[in-house]
Amino acid sequence: MATTIRQDTSDEGWIVRENPARPSQIVGRIAVTPPRDIARIVAAASKAQAEWAELELEQRIALFERAIEDVSSLETLSCEMTQEMGKPLLECTGELHFALALALDMARRARRLLPDETRGKGAGRRVVRRAPFGVVAAIVPWNAPIILAMTKIAPALLSGNAIVIKPSPLAPLGLTNLVSAIAGKLPRGLISVVNGGAETGNALLSAPEVTKVAFTGGTEVGRMVLRAAAERFVPCTLELGGNDPLIVMPGLDLTPKTMEAIVWGSFLNTGQVCMAAKRLLVHEAMMADFVDAYVETARSVFRVGSPIDPMTNMGPMITRAAQQRIDALAIDSARQGGTVIPLLDQALPDCGYFARPRLVTGLSPDARLVCEEQFGPIVPILGWQSEDEVIALANAHDSLSASAWSGDTSGAWSLASRTKAGLRLVNAHNRSGFSFDLPFGGSGRAGYGREYGDEGLLEYTQAVAMHQPPASEAAQSYPGAA
Ligand code: NAD
Repeated sequence: MATTIRQDTSDEGWIVRENPARPSQIVGRIAVTPPRDIARIVAAASKAQAEWAELELEQRIALFERAIEDVSSLETLSCEMTQEMGKPLLECTGELHFALALALDMARRARRLLPDETRGKGAGRRVVRRAPFGVVAAIVPWNAPIILAMTKIAPALLSGNAIVIKPSPLAPLGLTNLVSAIAGKLPRGLISVVNGGAETGNALLSAPEVTKVAFTGGTEVGRMVLRAAAERFVPCTLELGGNDPLIVMPGLDLTPKTMEAIVWGSFLNTGQVCMAAKRLLVHEAMMADFVDAYVETARSVFRVGSPIDPMTNMGPMITRAAQQRIDALAIDSARQGGTVIPLLDQALPDCGYFARPRLVTGLSPDARLVCEEQFGPIVPILGWQSEDEVIALANAHDSLSASAWSGDTSGAWSLASRTKAGLRLVNAHNRSGFSFDLPFGGSGRAGYGREYGDEGLLEYTQAVAMHQPPASEAAQSYPGAA
């Protein structure tokens, strides 16, 4: 049954979500938030934030934990996510559990990191306080909406901020329902959702009470968001698109387990993952064996079909345009001298935005598929001979993560450490390389600021210093001077 969500009285229109696996099926409709309501919602968030920030830290954390724990039983949510995104059901269930675990992990970090910190010894008083910014505007993409919202919701609220979230119009239903469930357990106005596209995003960014922006999405939209924030000197965390390299070193044992990890490094969520391995850089001595093992593994593990079927591990693309872009990249790659190898033995479902997974060999480093973030199930593979050469190839494009694979883990560690990615991995990529303890984020056009780990919490605070010098040092000399 289709969901209809009307958050506010709206005369501005509706977002209608179709099922990417069966486009004739309308999954749900959600009201676009009119600009006047956005102004009211942000003003209410600002009012709620003032009281929220005054609570004792432990009280704030306990209220947050209770709000999160109460929603962990939302079972219908994963089905709804699958239907609006086309992401396989098991993936959506996993996303939900991951997001809730992340929230509780952040709460533990808040207990440790957010109390006032006394610095230095001796007379006088020096304290560093982790103050909130105020109201956070969070704008998120469609490909992992719950996780990418929770990386912002948890640290923002725990730090004493309020938050207003704008989901992507391509996946608004599950996230709006989750936020409504959390919001019902917290002070009114502290956490809200506004729905719509670029115009709604702009209206949110221009609300005067917004004092921090957290954006995840594509690089070009990130540039626009940064410009809007710069108008009012509002600090931004930007998690953008990457063109992440996966390096295979000579002598890697191509076991089925290793090959599966490498294949899924690129193809999880049909390749629609920010930190997917988007370029494979394989030592020339391994190339022929590696390609054979890769194709054989992919063909044996991929099960493309209805994402609601628990056996399916690869669903459709999010839109017709995304599907057509991947097909166009395959055609361009062949024109540019590449050999396009299909990675699927079965036929594609006859309706829905399914794209055939493909590997492309024989491209030059300036081919379109190598230089652009494909964000879908087609991956180029390039050869290399020296470590300097592969580091130049790896660092030719900005990335969120980079991985090196070898039986010699210390050699892989030192090669990975020469990449310029925010997350440098050894014998892991994509999900297998993730840890709540480590910060995540990009460099260059892939963005800046960090999510996850201690850094991902402190991103939502500003250090405020309190200082009462000892009476004897209150004269005009420089501190530390004789
Ligand atoms: P997108 O940039 O098109 O949209 C992201 C969000 O921005 C959506 O909510 C959209 O409605 C909103 N938006 C669009 N134009 C806007 C404007 N002018 N002002 C304000 N908001 C605006 O991205 P997408 O297609 O939803 O997601 C795919 C991209 O996101 C890929 O490039 C992917 O790599 C990237 N991504 C990055 C990360 C990360 O952690 N770095 C994670 C997931 C996805």
